[in-house]
Amino acid sequence: DNGGNVKVVVRVRAFLPREIKRDAECLVSMDPITQETTLHVPDDSDPANARARSRKVIEEKSFTFDNSFWSHDTRDKHYAHQEEVYNCLGEEFLDHNFEGYHTCIFAYGQTGSGKSYTMMGTPDQPGLIPRTCEDLFQRIEQAQEETPNISYHVRASYFEVYNEHVRDLLVPVVPNQPPYYLKIRESPTDGPYVKDLTDVPVRNINEILRYMKTGDNNRTVASTKMNDTSSRSHAVFTIMLKQIHHDMETDETTERSSRIRLVDLAGSERAKSTEATGARLREGSNINKSLTTLGRVIAALADPKASRPGKRSRDVVPYRDSILTWLLKDSLGGNSKTAMIACISPSDYEETLSTLRYADQAKRIRTRAVVNQDHIS
Ligand code: ADP
Ligand code: MG
Repeated sequence: DNGGNVKVVVRVRAFLPREIKRDAECLVSMDPITQETTLHVPDDSDPANARARSRKVIEEKSFTFDNSFWSHDTRDKHYAHQEEVYNCLGEEFLDHNFEGYHTCIFAYGQTGSGKSYTMMGTPDQPGLIPRTCEDLFQRIEQAQEETPNISYHVRASYFEVYNEHVRDLLVPVVPNQPPYYLKIRESPTDGPYVKDLTDVPVRNINEILRYMKTGDNNRTVASTKMNDTSSRSHAVFTIMLKQIHHDMETDETTERSSRIRLVDLAGSERAKSTEATGARLREGSNINKSLTTLGRVIAALADPKASRPGKRSRDVVPYRDSILTWLLKDSLGGNSKTAMIACISPSDYEETLSTLRYADQAKRIRTRAVVNQDHIS
C-alpha cells in the first residue's frame, strides 16, 4: 500500500468582481456523484474567450479526479468550504504523517485561480496550511495525555523559489539591501536540501501560526519590491514531525520522522508563455524555469515508457534542471505520499483546459512512500 498514485483533486472558485462586471459565464460543471469535472464550450458573449474560440476547434471536455470541489457558488448545496477541502485531503495526509510518512500537497493553477486561498486562506477562512498546523498540535496535545511514552518534536521552515533563487522566508527582508539567496546541497541520505535555511523548533499552535504569517508577509514584501506579485514565486512551507517512542517493556527507543510539505506554486500561465517564446526567454529570464521543468518532470514520471529508449526511466526525469524540481524530487517521484490541487477559474477556457490536462497527467504518477523509522537505542 506504500506505492500509490499521486492524489489529484480539482477546485473551481467563485467569480471575481471583474468577472461579474463583464458578465462572464461559468464554463465548469462538476458532478457530485461521479466527481466528473466538465469544461464547456464558451458562447460568443464573453470576449475573454474570443481567442480560444477563433484559434482552434474547441469542444466539451470531461475529466475525473479523486475529488472535485465545487466552490463556485456559496448558495449551492454542494459548495465546498475550506473545511471540506481540509477534511477530504488535509486530514488524511496528517494521518500519514503520524504513521511516519512524508507527504506533499501542492496547489497548481493560473494566477487568480485560488491557490493561495486554498493553501493559506484568509483570517476568516483559513486554508490547508493553518488547518494542518492546528490539527497537528491538537493531536499532539491529545496524544501527550494518552501515550506519555511518545514525545513529539515539531520544526518549521518556509522558503520561496523566485527566478531560480531560494530565499528564506523566515528571515526578514532588509530594506535597501539585495535579497540574500541560499544554496542547495545534496545529502546522500536525505537528498537535496536548502543550506542554512532557518528551521525553527515550534512548541504550540500560536508559534507555528506566527512563523507562517511572518513568512507570508516576507513573501509579499519581497514581491512588491520586485514590482511583481507573488504569482511568480513558488512558496514551500515545511513542517518536520519527529515522534520518539520509548517502549517501557523492552527499553527500546525508536524515532519516526515525517515531513509535511505544503506548496503554493507560481501561476501556471507563465509556463505557457515561456513555451511560446522559448528562444528569447532562454537567454534572459529564469522566472519560469522551475514551472516548465515541473511540467517536464511530471510528463516523464507519468509516462516512463515514452522516455528515450535504452535509458532507465529515472535517468531521464529532469529533476536537476530547475531549483524547484530538484528540491521537490522526493515529493514528486520518490519517498512521499503526494497530492496536487488543481485550482481553476470558472470562465477561462484555455487556461482551465491546460490545468485540467496537467492534472490528468499527474494522476498517473506513482510514488513509493516508506515509514521513516529508526531504531535509536
Ligand atoms: P492565486 O493564488 O491562484 O493567484 P488567489 O488564491 O489569490 O489566487 O485567489 C484569487 C482571488 O479569488 C482572491 O481574491 C481569493 O480570495 C478569491 N478566491 C479564490 N478561491 C476562492 C474560493 N474558493 N472562495 C472564495 N473566494 C476565492
Ligand atoms: Mg497566490
